[in-house]
Amino acid sequence: MTARLRLQPEAVGIGMTSQRVRDRLVERLREAGIVDEATLNAIRVVPRHLFIDEALASRAYEDTALPIGHGQTISQPWVVARMTEAILQVAPKTVLEVGTGSGYQAAVLAAVGLEVFTVERIGDLLRQARKRFRSLAMNIRTKHDDGRAGWPEHGPYDAIVVTAAAPALVDVLIDQLAVGGRLVAPVGGPGAQSLVQLDRLPDGSITQSVLAPVTFVPLLSGMLD
Ligand code: SAH
Repeated sequence: MTARLRLQPEAVGIGMTSQRVRDRLVERLREAGIVDEATLNAIRVVPRHLFIDEALASRAYEDTALPIGHGQTISQPWVVARMTEAILQVAPKTVLEVGTGSGYQAAVLAAVGLEVFTVERIGDLLRQARKRFRSLAMNIRTKHDDGRAGWPEHGPYDAIVVTAAAPALVDVLIDQLAVGGRLVAPVGGPGAQSLVQLDRLPDGSITQSVLAPVTFVPLLSGMLD
């Protein structure tokens, strides 16, 4: 009887999404060089299993990208954490994300206390992400559009996070970055991309550096329902 009761949580899947499993992911990210405590705490509290299909929930706290439909992926937690801690270094209040996807990166940005604006070109993905934001009572502003145009009405932004790769940084997005702001984006073709960090310094000049090699889905043009 006791043994059966002990097994029950696993049988209904609670064990796969438990706090202990999330804590283990946070420890792994720490070992992989993520140092910012606010970022690590956001990874701990945002329920990543709610951003993917139930059939994949058992893998939600692995440090890996996972499919979310339409040929797209939820980003790897390490990449989400790395981009989040990179922008937090400039103490932003507002952030524009290009490529909502599942909504996970946006939720992590909201969890560290930022005002989040996010743009997605695939309507079906955006509708699902909006439902998740609502059910988590997260106040995240969303737009169905080609995010290569940014979201000029609410800019300039203190930070911009691009979660799909282009051959080069998009000038229109750089234009929507505030003075003192930071943009992070994967740059390169399929297979060989670099996570690039661009700063608009207080004197107006721009500097760039490479943070890490990464793999993202491509930044595409136009919109889909
Ligand atoms: N940040 C997402 C990652 C999703 S993958 C997450 O945490 O789940 C990248 C997303 O970028 C995909 O959903 C893709 O449809 C979207 N995307 C690609 N090109 C885009 C564009 N031009 N404008 C807006 N979104 C785009």
